[in-house]
Formats: sequence, C-alpha cells, structure tokens
Amino acid sequence: MTAGTPWYRAAVEDLTTEALPQEYAQKLIDEHGAAPAAPARTSRPTETAATLALGAARSAAAGDVAGYVAAAELAVAACSADGDPTRLAGALVEAGNAARMAGAHQRALELLARAIAVPGLDDAADSHTPILATAHHRMAIVYDAMGDAATALSHLREAESAYVHIDDRPGLARVRNSLGIIYSRTGDLERALEFFGACVAEAERVRDAERLSAGLSNISITTRLLGRYDEAVANAERATSIAAEHGERSSMASSRSNLALAYAAAGRSDEARVAFEDARSLHEALGDRFFLAEHLRAYSEFLAAQDETSSALEQAHASLALAVDIDALALVRDGHEALAGLHKRRGEFGLALEHFERHHEMSVRLDAEAAARDLRTQKWQYELDQAQRATDVARAERATLASGYARLEALHELLARQTRELEARSRIDDLTRIANRGAFEERLHEESARAARQMTPFALVFVDLDAFKAVNDTFGHGVGDDVLRIVGDVLRRAVRETDCAARMGGEEFAVLLTGTSGAGAVRVAEKLRTAIAHHPWHALRPGLRITASFGAATSDEVDADPTRLLELADARLYHAKAAGRDRVVATAPTLAALE
Ligand code: GH3
Ligand code: MG
Ligand code: MG
Repeated sequence: MTAGTPWYRAAVEDLTTEALPQEYAQKLIDEHGAAPAAPARTSRPTETAATLALGAARSAAAGDVAGYVAAAELAVAACSADGDPTRLAGALVEAGNAARMAGAHQRALELLARAIAVPGLDDAADSHTPILATAHHRMAIVYDAMGDAATALSHLREAESAYVHIDDRPGLARVRNSLGIIYSRTGDLERALEFFGACVAEAERVRDAERLSAGLSNISITTRLLGRYDEAVANAERATSIAAEHGERSSMASSRSNLALAYAAAGRSDEARVAFEDARSLHEALGDRFFLAEHLRAYSEFLAAQDETSSALEQAHASLALAVDIDALALVRDGHEALAGLHKRRGEFGLALEHFERHHEMSVRLDAEAAARDLRTQKWQYELDQAQRATDVARAERATLASGYARLEALHELLARQTRELEARSRIDDLTRIANRGAFEERLHEESARAARQMTPFALVFVDLDAFKAVNDTFGHGVGDDVLRIVGDVLRRAVRETDCAARMGGEEFAVLLTGTSGAGAVRVAEKLRTAIAHHPWHALRPGLRITASFGAATSDEVDADPTRLLELADARLYHAKAAGRDRVVATAPTLAALE
C-alpha cells in the first residue's frame, strides 16, 4: 500500500539524522585514509580510539551502510575495553542501528539488548537516560520491521517514559511519531492521530520543519484512511508547502505523493493529476527507485479510476520495471495484479492471463517466505532470550540474588527478634522530630533486603557535626539543642520523600538515599554539606558557624550487606574528620582496605 511509505520513512529518519560528530570522522579520515574502519589500526583501546570510532560510525550513518556496520562494530570493541558504560552503550546502540539498516535484525536485537543491559547504565544518573531511551526506540523499530507490533510498542513505552523523565521534548516528539505509526499499523487510527497531533505540536514548538512536515503527512494519511478527506487535503497541503520551503528532497517528494492521494480521495481529480506529475518528477530527481515505483503504482491506480486505461498501463509498466530492477517482490506481485486487471478491462485476455499467472506465482512464493520469516523470527526471539540469559550481567545478577536470598533469611530471623523491641520503642527522635536510630536501622535492613532482591542500589551517608563540643561550650547547651533541631530540619527537607534522615544520637545523623549510587550519593552529600554550612546560623547567635563532615557508601560496594555498609560509611566519616572536616568522603577507604 502506497500509504505506508512515508510513515516508515519518517520513523527511520527520526533515528538516523541525529547530530553527527563529523569532526571526529574527518580527523579519522585525515589520519588513516577514507575507510571508516581505520580505528582498528589504533593499537590501544584508549578513550580517543573509542570516540573516533563512534564518530566514524555515526558519520557513516549518512550513507554507507556497510561502512557504518564495520565502524560501529569496531566502536563496540574499542568501547568494551575502554570501560565507560555510557560510551559502550552508545556504541552498542549505534551498532544495533547499523545492523538494522543492513537488514541483520537478529544482530541488531542482540546489540540493542546488550546496550540496555550495560552494567551501571540503569541507575539514577540522568546522563544515561537518553541512551536508554534511544536503545529502546531503536529496538522498537527493529521489532516493527520484523512485524512484531506488540513488542515494538512495549519498547516505545519504555523510551517514552525515559524521555518524560529527563524532559526531552524533541525525543518525546520522535517517540510519539513512532507510536502513531505502530498504532496505525494495528488499525487504531484514532489513537494514531492523537500521537501524530502531539508530534506536530512539539515540532511547531521547536520549529523543526522536517518533523512538522512528516507529522502533517502522517495526519493526512490517517485522516484519508478514516474517510475525512477535507482534513487529509488540508494537512497534506500544509505538509507539502512546509517541505517545499524548508524540507529535504525526500520529504518534498513524499509529502507531494500524499497530497496527490488526498486530492484523489477527495475527488479533486485535476489537482490530483498535477500533484501526481509533480511528485513523479521529485521522486525521479531523488533517485530512490523503491519510492518511485510505489508512487507510479498509486498514479496508475488513480488513472485507472479515471478510466484512462492506456495511461494507467504505462505507469503500471514503469512501476513494475523498477520493482523488478530492485527486486522488490511485493511490489512486483502487486504490479502484475494491477496489469492483469488493466489488460482484462481492455479485453486483452491473453496478456491479462499472463500477468495473473505471474501474480499468482509471486503470491505463493511470498506467502511461503513470510511463513519462513515468521518461523525465523520466533527462532531469533528464542535464541536472543537464551543469549540474554547467558550474559555476564545476568550471571552476576543471579550470583548476587543467590547470596542476597541467603542473607535475607538471616535478616528475617534478626528482624523477627527485633520487631517487638522496635515497636515498643518510639521511632521518632524527641529533640529533632526526625527518625531515631532504631527506626533508621530498621529501614536500613529493609532497604538492604530490597537491594539484594531487586538490584536497586541505595546509599548511606553518615553526618557528624564538626567541633560541636565547642559550640556547647561557647554558646550553651540550649543553643546546641537548637542547632541539632535545625540540622534535623535541614536534612529532612533536603532529601526526597522516599529517603530517610535520622538522628543516630548526640550530634550524629544519618541519611539513607534510595535508588542512588556512586556519583548520585556524592552529589546529595555535597548538597547536604553546603545546606548545613550555608545555613544563616548567625541569626541564631552572632558568630555561630556550623559545619559537618560526611562519610558516604553505597549498597553495591558491599553486596547490600547492611553491617558492612555501616562500617564503610563510618570509616569514611572518620577520614573526613582526619582530612580537616567540612567535607564529603565517598571513595576511600575501600571495603578491601577495611577487611
Ligand atoms: P568532631 O569535629 O571531632 O566531631 O568534634 P565534636 O566536638 O563534635 O565531637 P565530640 O564527639 O568530642 O563531641 C560531641 C559533643 O556533642 C559532645 C556533647 O556535649 C554534644 N552533644 C551530644 N548530644 C547533645 C545534645 O543532645 N545536645 C547538645 N546541646 N549537645 C550534645
Ligand atoms: Mg560525634
Ligand atoms: Mg562531632
């Protein structure tokens, strides 16, 4: 069906026209000659090699598919050695896209699944989320190309929520366009229209003419299929004029094709004829024979409906010749069917029969191929599941899970014993009105169990006020108590609902940060440190200044063992004190240094 063409183009173009780091590719070409495979000569898998390879891969996306595949695979190799999860995932996403463009769907799914599973990528750090979003989006496109709309849809949902999370509105517009395409493939045209509408609104907001034209074309196609021909014409006219003014040649041609179809459907034959002719010239200039063949077939159908059988025959023959040339089997089959019909109308039954036989032959062959493809797809899916289960990530997860469960049982006993005690004791600290030590430790054990079970990291931050004895000595115990209350308040306000701030005793506090690890924990601890240091203490007493020292550790450093986590954070707090106070220590000593 001709109507399908521009949709698919829009979906694919979405993901291949990202900003390319051309300068890297150029540097590479200058140093190593024209082949994008040049990074292989760089013996050390340094950061530079990885970046160069990735740059080459992306620039190859501009045209040379074989080069794109080769360079992207090299980028994966270089980035695997390089150790940076963001870069490795980026390279895998690139290689996945390259494989899809080369038609290697199974390889594409493998690479994209690996990208999504890169260890350390799926944590709370927002800098990773765009890569995850792109990986899911590209995964969806592969599944769509394989005819699996349901799986494509679930990946698009993942991508959508990732873009919402980081508030990437152009990303959201791209993913909604793709959602619209999938919904229209499944026949839910009303829903598809909503998505295309959202995409158009966003394209208008950011003044992206290319995407605006594609979105309007998609709306035109969908309203035409719904029989709302006036809307189809209006949207196609707008898409065409935007493409003519700002667009690339491909969108000029495809929007004009749509316009012709919209006019034809609306019964505006004269305008349709002009648009069909214009679009044909544009497609010829563009040089994409597949799209030209599809356009000529649609043109031929239009002419046949106008009872201009000999012109229709001419276009149908031209379309068939192109389709045969590029081996587009479905187009060849449909071409023979159209020609059989046209010859029959002219009473040329011999020719009609000939074409009908070819049509029949091709149909049988294509049905068999489709069946084989389905089978292959299922086999790929199965192999992919197997491969995924066997990845290092999965193995590491299982190992952690196993030890997590063992620890869970021990924890369960411990918790049962402590429950009565804890319930008897108040969970709130009298002075600061935040959680007390008992409540905090209970929460810590819960969180450790969850982390072991679900692989969700969390962080523990110990806080100890600096030289607090001197505060009491200088300003009196009453002021000391006020300071403790304020610090409790500052901590409670600075962390999220799901986190837990507690007073552990004296002038010592602790904070538990859910869904946080590594850099995230340091960021929050730094925020807490400045919040305390910059509080207007002088308002309480002139000359009063309060700072605190921080020791931070994360569950993934200790396999979610709460006791070792407490020890590690405490040791780091001690180091923060020794290093001069008013600072965060989050890396040294390591667990190994303690044991
Ligand atoms: P450092 O920087 O090494 O942590 O020095 P520091 O003076 O804070 O440490 P130290 O542990 O020697 O002293 C803690 C002080 O905190 C001693 C105690 O008087 C005071 N403190 C503990 N609990 C309370 C309380 O509930 N109210 C008041 N006002 N002071 C308290
Ligand atoms: Mg202390
Ligand atoms: Mg202290």
